[in-house]
Amino acid sequence: MSFSIYEVAVRITLEELELHRIVVSKTYASDALNYHGAEFRQVAPLNVDAVAELQGGEIRIRGHLETLLEASCDRCLGMVDLPVAWDFDLFYRPLSSIAREEEIKIPTDELDVGFYSGNGLELADVVTEQVILSVPMKVICRAECQGLCPVCGTNRNLEKCQCPSPQGASPFASLKKD
Ligand SMILES: [Zn+2]
Ligand SMILES: [Zn+2]
Repeated sequence: MSFSIYEVAVRITLEELELHRIVVSKTYASDALNYHGAEFRQVAPLNVDAVAELQGGEIRIRGHLETLLEASCDRCLGMVDLPVAWDFDLFYRPLSSIAREEEIKIPTDELDVGFYSGNGLELADVVTEQVILSVPMKVICRAECQGLCPVCGTNRNLEKCQCPSPQGASPFASLKKD
């Protein structure tokens, strides 16, 4: 029996980084990563290539990941494919470094700084966070999506309903009906 590449967790440790940088290529099956209830699904394997090295006391991880996500359109709730091709260049500081500072001030140009605890971090955690970041704030199936009718729920991309236009649809509209 050979190990499935899907099963092997990749831990990036200080001990190893002190000897050499870590170059890793890994594939995560569509159900291998836990996105903690995010409103999308990973529907294809995820491929990641990354290089980790120690730089000025921080762990720097650079790389590229690709996968396919599926999410529902914010307007019509239809399923939308979200191909992901995402570059990242991240710095992780030891969590213990926070305790030595009176307050945490992270300048806005250092938003890509994260923290690690113990002797390193899991590649899966890095990848999971980057996938979540790659998802747009608003998911729209297409720019001209008409969405659902706020009154009757009809998908207005598929059929027209007889409800008044949104401007006329006040919260009290139903009270005035005959
Ligand atoms: Zn839509
Ligand atoms: Zn309607």
